[in-house]
Amino acid sequence: MSRQVVGPLGWLVEATRPVSPAARRALERRWQELPEHVRTPAQTLGQFGVECEGTHGVFPRCNFTCTPCYHSADANRVRVDGAHTVAEVEAQMAYLARRAPHAHAQLIGGEVTLLDPDDHATTLAVMRRHGREPMSFSHGDVDFDYLNRLVTGPDGRRRLRRVSFAVHIDTTMRGRRGLRRVAREADLTAERARVAAMFARLRTERGVRTLLAHNVTVTPENVDQIPELLAGARGLGYGMFSFQPAAFVGDERRWRSDYSALDPDRIWERIEEGAGARLPYRVLQVGDLRCNRTAWGFYTGDRWVSLLDEDDPRDLAVRDALFTYLGGFHFSAPAPLVALRLTRVALAHPRLVGTALAWARRTVRRAGGWRRVLAERPRLTTFVMHRFMDASEVAPAWALLESGQMSPDPDVRAVQERLSACSYLMAHPEDGRCVPACVQHGVLDPAENAALAELLPLPRRRAASAT
Ligand code: SF4
Repeated sequence: MSRQVVGPLGWLVEATRPVSPAARRALERRWQELPEHVRTPAQTLGQFGVECEGTHGVFPRCNFTCTPCYHSADANRVRVDGAHTVAEVEAQMAYLARRAPHAHAQLIGGEVTLLDPDDHATTLAVMRRHGREPMSFSHGDVDFDYLNRLVTGPDGRRRLRRVSFAVHIDTTMRGRRGLRRVAREADLTAERARVAAMFARLRTERGVRTLLAHNVTVTPENVDQIPELLAGARGLGYGMFSFQPAAFVGDERRWRSDYSALDPDRIWERIEEGAGARLPYRVLQVGDLRCNRTAWGFYTGDRWVSLLDEDDPRDLAVRDALFTYLGGFHFSAPAPLVALRLTRVALAHPRLVGTALAWARRTVRRAGGWRRVLAERPRLTTFVMHRFMDASEVAPAWALLESGQMSPDPDVRAVQERLSACSYLMAHPEDGRCVPACVQHGVLDPAENAALAELLPLPRRRAASAT
């Protein structure tokens, strides 16, 4: 029988436990929830982490007019309100924290920088308090002053040690200052560089750690420009490039072309062309491959190298060990705790140290050898393709799922399978459930935004009352 250690030593033992019992339970629950077809050896959900989370119903308004836009027509009738945002995010994160003690969560809605910097910072603090590692979603058309005020408290001192932003910059967008309409993706390279430079400045001048992702909406018009987009952007400092093929969801007035013509293999080929490498997406799977393809790796100079070689059984064994010993590990915990927890894993399983060193040697060899790696400073760069579904597909499939039925129609069933394996969830604490983002945007957003427009109406124009 094991004896429980109490006092400071007991606290230390608990604090340095590599994976908490709550995190283990969350992983097990996640694995049990997954449908059979995605329970593969490569599946990260339920083996390494839980799903990614996103906010909804907080600040749907945006000052751009993109084509397409996944927000419903009423979104821009809703006032951006800091108190509402903080309260809603608090409720949603508290609910999610009961499902899993930690996860990545997207602070997403309309345009996040329409929030006052103090409200934005308060919201990020709420998310962190609930164990979430937040990422703010923006069109990036902001100045350094906004970012500086975000990380700086009223007392002039730094209040945020790290920030993560996903910045959406592409030719489907309308409204960027000085670039209201742009024909080619390459014409936006300078803007991508400007945004990346602001975050570099946050690091050097304010000592803030930053993670910067780049989002792109893919349409029939810009799909073949992905290589030139990446050629200009991949060395700028973005740690992730995430491509979302457009879907028929959101405001119908903003649908411009036949998005059903977008073939996922063709898009992935274009991403590979731009990345300058084959991008293996089966070695680590996130949910359903029809929804997500993800390739984790790094650049040394112009050479992109996958973190795991999918053709090498030794690397597949590394993946399995990662899931077995570090599944549920909280990598966003404070660095000293992460170091102590990893040390405990190594002490408990010394064989893993040899496995890790052998993997590092192989990976460096694939990257061109130590000399090249040391000279070129590796840059972690992840490539993602996330394929949202059309609202007209999601609505009937979700209605059947809600009533516990799987459709005999193979097309509807395929949508149901993807929804059941969803890796991107949004919380509804009022109903005691989470829903896939496809359901949120394709089914629930219209009524939710209409209600928000009543709750948070825009200020009335004063001109009319002045006459
Ligand atoms: S949000 Fe939709 S496309 Fe994304 S993982 Fe969930 S079901 Fe798939």
